[in-house]
Amino acid sequence: MLVESTMVDPIKLLLLDRDGVINVDSKHYIKKAEEWHPIAGSINAIVQLQHCVKIAVCTNQAGIGRGLFAETALTAIHRKMNNAIVQAGGEAIDIYYCPHAPAQDCYCRKPKSGLLTLAMQGHQCLAKNTLYVGDSEKDLLAALNAKCRSVLVLTGNGSKTAKTPAAQYAGAIVENLAALADRTIVTGILDI
Ligand SMILES: [Mg+2]
Ligand SMILES: [Zn+2]
Repeated sequence: MLVESTMVDPIKLLLLDRDGVINVDSKHYIKKAEEWHPIAGSINAIVQLQHCVKIAVCTNQAGIGRGLFAETALTAIHRKMNNAIVQAGGEAIDIYYCPHAPAQDCYCRKPKSGLLTLAMQGHQCLAKNTLYVGDSEKDLLAALNAKCRSVLVLTGNGSKTAKTPAAQYAGAIVENLAALADRTIVTGILDI
């Protein structure tokens, strides 16, 4: 059943944080493909969500700027992630990442809006039609700075973030990516 959306600004582009949203996070960073493990249900959720919206990833990867791993390792990690999505029946997704360490004061590291703006431009989508999903305060602040809506997931840092002032900026709080995808089952529309 496809229901006409009652929303003025339908969500067309879904931007996802990576660590703590799609895959299990580590305070030691995800430095190689072997260390990348999806959160249960997240890959199928991406495939399901691709039926109604475009999806891309926006992720801070300061481990590169800190010299902990090379961009070739990051490419291998993202190949593993996209292989998993394609094997589950989905389409490979674009990944926008900030490789800089905090001290480099770049334009793209979240909570700045640069990474999200790049992704919206790359997909020719306006902020009002974009939803960002993250697990940390800097995700919610990045969405606020980029003027798009946001959802907080309780995976990764999410349960901690839910208790911070930044949680007020989340349009919704959901258990995990699978719970967000489940919201689209009845209507075929992602509505926050
Ligand atoms: Mg995260
Ligand atoms: Zn950056």
